[in-house]
Amino acid sequence: MATARTRIWRQVMELSPVCSGSLHEQYLTCGKATCGCHDRKEPRLHGPYYLWRRHIDGKQVNRTLRPGPQLERVREGIANYHQLQELLGEWLVQEESQVLESGRAVAPSSKKNFKRSLRRR
Ligand SMILES: [Zn+2]
Repeated sequence: MATARTRIWRQVMELSPVCSGSLHEQYLTCGKATCGCHDRKEPRLHGPYYLWRRHIDGKQVNRTLRPGPQLERVREGIANYHQLQELLGEWLVQEESQVLESGRAVAPSSKKNFKRSLRRR
């Protein structure tokens, strides 16, 4: 339906920022051997840092972020991306149901025929 589609796309357009991937909290040691982060009994690790891990063209890309406005924008962007995926899923369901309604869908073959055609390949 056009109205539902408009509602979904209106929501999609309001989603900003949008970021893929995920955030991972990290506590790290540094290169200074005398630093408290290397204490054997009570290591005082540096952090938190946040590893933002995502994929660009199939390659994993990592970016370390400190707490602050940049991190919060990425966090917001990831939440928005999840909402975007939900909206696209909703849109897909509607589009698919329309395809069937308008009679454009290919007549479903019975399971029997489907199996037979698979075996022939
Ligand atoms: Zn240290």
